[in-house]
Amino acid sequence: MKYLDEYRDGRAAREFAKAIARVVTRPWIIMEVCGGQTHAIVKFGVDELLPKEITLLHGPGCPVCVTPVELIDKAVEIASRPGVIFASFGDMLRVPGTSGDLLSVKASGGDVRIVYSPLDALKIARENPEKEIVFFAVGFETTAPANAMAAVQAKQMELKNFSLLVSHVLVPPAIEAILSFSDNRVQGFLAAGHVCAVMGYTEYEPIASNYHVPIIVAGFEPVDILQGIYMCVRQLEEGRATVENQYSRVVNRAGNLPAQKLMREVFRVIPRKWRGIGEIPFSGLGLEGEYKFFDAELRFDLAGRSVEEASECISGLILRGVKKPPECPAFAARCNPEHPLGATMVSSEGACAAYYRYRRFQPLSDNSIIG
Ligand code: SF4
Repeated sequence: MKYLDEYRDGRAAREFAKAIARVVTRPWIIMEVCGGQTHAIVKFGVDELLPKEITLLHGPGCPVCVTPVELIDKAVEIASRPGVIFASFGDMLRVPGTSGDLLSVKASGGDVRIVYSPLDALKIARENPEKEIVFFAVGFETTAPANAMAAVQAKQMELKNFSLLVSHVLVPPAIEAILSFSDNRVQGFLAAGHVCAVMGYTEYEPIASNYHVPIIVAGFEPVDILQGIYMCVRQLEEGRATVENQYSRVVNRAGNLPAQKLMREVFRVIPRKWRGIGEIPFSGLGLEGEYKFFDAELRFDLAGRSVEEASECISGLILRGVKKPPECPAFAARCNPEHPLGATMVSSEGACAAYYRYRRFQPLSDNSIIG
C-alpha cells in the first residue's frame, strides 16, 4: 500500500536504527509528543531498535488523557439532565470523573450517544428540536477546525438547541511547559505530524531557539519515527537546535491556512487546565464572540467550577515524561482497561493503554518489525 507499507518496512527501519547508532556518542532523551506515535513505538518495538544511549519518553499528546477531571464532571452533570442528548467520541465515555463517567450516565438512562464527527451531533440537533444537544468538543489543533465548522453551521442554521462543551488544547504551550518544569529531562522532541498539518510549524521555531531544543515534525509509522529520531540525534550531537520536517509528504511550514482562519473566527486562545499537569497559560481554545452562544458551560451555568484530581493515578508524571507506565504502582494491577483509574489507561492513544496492550507480558509485541 502506497504511503504505508514503505513506512512499516523492517529493513528501512533497521537502516535508520544503524544510522542512529553510527552518529550517537552519548545519552540523549527524546520525547514523542503524540499518543499515536507512542502506540506505534510500543506496538512495533521501535524503542527496542534504538541504541542504549537513546531514551524515549512519552508526551502529553493524547486529547482524552489531558481533558481535566472538572470537564468530565461537567459532561456528566450535563448528560444527566433531563431533555439533554449528550454526543461524544467513544473514548470519552469511560474517562473517570470524580464521581462517575459518561458510560454510567448512559447505563442509568441518560441519552449519551457516540458520534464520529461534530456534524453527526448537528444532525441529531436538527432531528430533535425539543431536546438540548451538547457535543463534547475535545482534542488538539487537529479536531478544532471541524468543531469550529460545526459552530459556524449551527449559527447559519440558527440552531438554538445545540452547544459545545469545549476542551481544546494546544501543543506548543505544552512543550514549553514541559521544558519549564524543574524536573524536565527532555532534550529533543518529535512533534505530532497531524497537528502540524493544520498549524504548520512556525510556532515551534521560537521554542527550539529559546530553549535550545531540536524539534522534528514527524509522522506516525515506525520508519517516520526512526527517521525523526535520527534527525533529532544528529542535531543534538552537532549542538544544533532547529525545527526540521520529517513529515514533508503531509506537512508544510505554513500549514492549512483556511483551517487556521476558521479556528480564529470561532475560538480564542485561553488558559486551560491539563489533567495531571495543571493550568498552562495560552494552551487552550474557548468559543469567541458571537459563538459564545454555543458554549455549553455558559448555557448550563457551569463556568468557573473547579475540582481537585485524585492522587492515586500518576498520569500527570507520565504525560510530562517523568515516569513510564510500568513505574506506576497501580499499572496492570488495580488499574487496567476494565477498571481504569486514569485517562491514560482508557484512551486508545494513552501511554498506559499502549503498555498494557503490547508490553504487559512480553518485552516485544508480536507486531514488532525488528524480526
Ligand atoms: S496505570 Fe492507571 S493509575 Fe497508573 S498512571 Fe496509568 S492510568 Fe494512572
